[in-house]
Amino acid sequence: MQTKSGVIVVLSGPSGSGKSSLMKRVEDKLDNYYISISTTTRPARNQEINGEDYLFISKEEFLKDIRDNCFLEHAVVHGNYYGTSIRPVQTALQEGRLVLFDIDVQGHAAIRDKFPDIITSIFITTPSLAELKHRLSGRATETNEIMQERLNIAKKELLHIKEYDYVLVNDDFEQTVNALLDIIQAAKLKKPAAEIDDFVSKWLQN
Ligand code: 5GP
Repeated sequence: MQTKSGVIVVLSGPSGSGKSSLMKRVEDKLDNYYISISTTTRPARNQEINGEDYLFISKEEFLKDIRDNCFLEHAVVHGNYYGTSIRPVQTALQEGRLVLFDIDVQGHAAIRDKFPDIITSIFITTPSLAELKHRLSGRATETNEIMQERLNIAKKELLHIKEYDYVLVNDDFEQTVNALLDIIQAAKLKKPAAEIDDFVSKWLQN
């Protein structure tokens, strides 16, 4: 895939680790960015808006989109389909934007595979499993059964933590926001190999 000089920052971590709140908070401090809006078959939660939080579609529509090669990556998470559409990401990268993703460990592996040069990834977690349980039980949106399943998935996700460039333990929210902003600034300074090759060949000519 051809890109100008956009960069990718991937955030992963268990549901309840604070990814969405962090993303919302850092958004104000960024410019020239695009937050990837995923498509999902999961039902919308109370406050969620179609087209802003996710594109909510049926399983049949999702399967058709898979067949039509609409997705850069897609995965089943918590029993529902989630996917990243190719086109908006491609456009944002060609425009040289910072592209932010909130995707699971499978999505991270797929995006890293496709864009090894320009990706920076961050795994966000609570300080402990007990704290994750505490935060999830504060969510009025989920039943006990769903919460238990999310905790089990979280344990499995933690096994992938070393695949990430950075790990942020979201204990103090403000500190985590600042650390995230620092990582994003560094990510924007990352140069893809092709750009470095170009620089070297020009450097040699002068
Ligand atoms: P939730 O349903 O709580 O919003 O998200 C559940 C999980 O799905 C989270 O770990 C989130 O990062 C992940 N997720 C959201 N969108 C995508 C996507 O497009 N692809 C993948 N692989 N995971 C996603």
